[in-house]
Amino acid sequence: MNPFLELGIRHDIVNAITELGFEKPSPIQEKAIPVLLTGNDDFVGLAQTGTGKTAAFGLPLLEQLDFSSKQPQALVLCPTRELCLQIARDLEKFAKYIDNVHVVAVYGGANIGDQLRQIRRGVQIVVATPGRMLDIIGRNAIDFSNVRYVVLDEADEMLNMGFQEDINNILSETPDDKKTWLFSATMPKEVRRIAQNYMTNPQELTVGTKNTGNENIEHQYFMVKAKDKYAAFKRIVDFYPEIFGIVFCRTKIETQEIAEALIKDGYNADSLHGDLSQQQRDKVMKRYRERNLQLLIATDVAARGIDVNDVTHVINYSLPDETENYTHRSGRTARAGKTGISISLINAKEMSKIRHIEKINGKQFIPKQVPQGAEVCEKQLLALVDKVHNVEVHEDQINAFLPQILESLQDLSKEEVIKKFASLEFNRFLNYYQDAPDLNFDARDSRGERGDRSERRTGSKGYTRLFINLGSVDEFSRGDMLSYICNKGKISGKSVGKIDLKGVFTFFEVLDADVDSVFQGFKDVDFNGRNVRIEVSGDKPSSDRGGRRRSGGGGGDRRDRGGDRGSRGGSGRRDRGDRGDRGGSGFRDFSGKRRDRESKSRY
Ligand code: AMP
Repeated sequence: MNPFLELGIRHDIVNAITELGFEKPSPIQEKAIPVLLTGNDDFVGLAQTGTGKTAAFGLPLLEQLDFSSKQPQALVLCPTRELCLQIARDLEKFAKYIDNVHVVAVYGGANIGDQLRQIRRGVQIVVATPGRMLDIIGRNAIDFSNVRYVVLDEADEMLNMGFQEDINNILSETPDDKKTWLFSATMPKEVRRIAQNYMTNPQELTVGTKNTGNENIEHQYFMVKAKDKYAAFKRIVDFYPEIFGIVFCRTKIETQEIAEALIKDGYNADSLHGDLSQQQRDKVMKRYRERNLQLLIATDVAARGIDVNDVTHVINYSLPDETENYTHRSGRTARAGKTGISISLINAKEMSKIRHIEKINGKQFIPKQVPQGAEVCEKQLLALVDKVHNVEVHEDQINAFLPQILESLQDLSKEEVIKKFASLEFNRFLNYYQDAPDLNFDARDSRGERGDRSERRTGSKGYTRLFINLGSVDEFSRGDMLSYICNKGKISGKSVGKIDLKGVFTFFEVLDADVDSVFQGFKDVDFNGRNVRIEVSGDKPSSDRGGRRRSGGGGGDRRDRGGDRGSRGGSGRRDRGDRGDRGGSGFRDFSGKRRDRESKSRY
């Protein structure tokens, strides 16, 4: 027998949810449905988002309401317009085979006239955000005297958003003998207070441990230096070619900046924050929901109520100020029994925050290393091979060209053809990641040990002092310069002595034996379109050199900010262009369509 029938759900509802792919109840459904079907008790359910809460309360509601009447009998309050629409849509789907079910979604930012008309025509279930609901109550446009059930969904979010007062006012409009069902991912004392003030001996259910994040989420952190954060972030994204993620920033400005930088770097990303109009937000969400967007960059507030399934990664570009927000953020992945990864990019000082979150969530973070360029290349290559394997071939259309294609490839062996096709995409990654530096935080940097080592060597015998026309305005740190010199000059770090990083140029010492290798390695090297020059230096920089350097420009280009420096071996701009061109591997939209915004922004 169907397990939902066993729980007491009737056939016509079971038929509808079976069509939606519900084979067996989720844990919250299994526990809550029998309790809620009795209709006798108030109820508190502690469950993360994505656990099947909507059906947990929705199915019992549909069982118990009288659809021969057109009076509002159930009110569902939730924090956001997104969630409001989602719940209303879900309820309608569950009720597909029940006659005369009328559900209205009432939320701000949309035409109130349409919502009032629907209410006047008669509804049994009102799903609402608190603000708009109060507005409608204030107009005397709804009669709540027959309400038997009030559901407070994502109660902690509603309180976070300052809806406490509105909820009080709305509840006071509903009959005293109604039953209140409260769902919340966390149980701060404010939510506890609602339960105490408005509910009578509620039955309480917890799915998972209290205040614990979803068990299917793996929490990881990457420790990086602030200046490497963006590059490390991109590297991590590149390491997961099939990523479908939400990236959280702390402020609207940061959200906008990261999204812009990503778009310019050729990624399929867009931002969601409070400064966008409702229409713009809807558009972004639609693209994300339909998988035409791979990375959604969002603030905490804007991302509330996002209930997109199959989000593979949540990335905390910046950790939230409130620990509870971490739980909400990470809960956007691993929905409906799936697994997910929640990644945090932190600096050394933020380790205490990680420990605090661990304590609250009762779950440990896994420290991770930012992948090396070669690892990213390998991942991307395998993903590409996978893609080739699975690509749909339109026989009708390709057949016409096949003879010509075969003819022009006839001098190549099968293996050569494979290599060439793979290289077509893969070369871009190789170029991008050749010389890519290690982006992991190295505690020695902060303790100045590297500096000490350099200092020790100042003026040592056996070293030659060289000049290079790149410096801190090109966003090099001493560490970056060290790896850049070693990579290009093909010498070990031990060969490099003191590095004297200036604004527009740098002096560095190299073991006499390795000077030739450095000159050789820097032959014909470009940086941001400029020729990189190495000279044996006198003790003091000449103003001429500084002046010449300055004319090089390019260092302040914000698109370069935090770029993968080592990868800039050629021109940063060219690198970015490559990305925009990729269309295929890892940076395409899921529909495979070309992205106009990217192409436009490439230059
Ligand atoms: P919710 O927490 O209600 O937003 O549900 C999260 C997702 O899980 C939604 O896409 C539901 O359609 C899906 N879902 C809920 N219950 C089940 C179930 N028993 N079996 C399969 N999918 C479910």
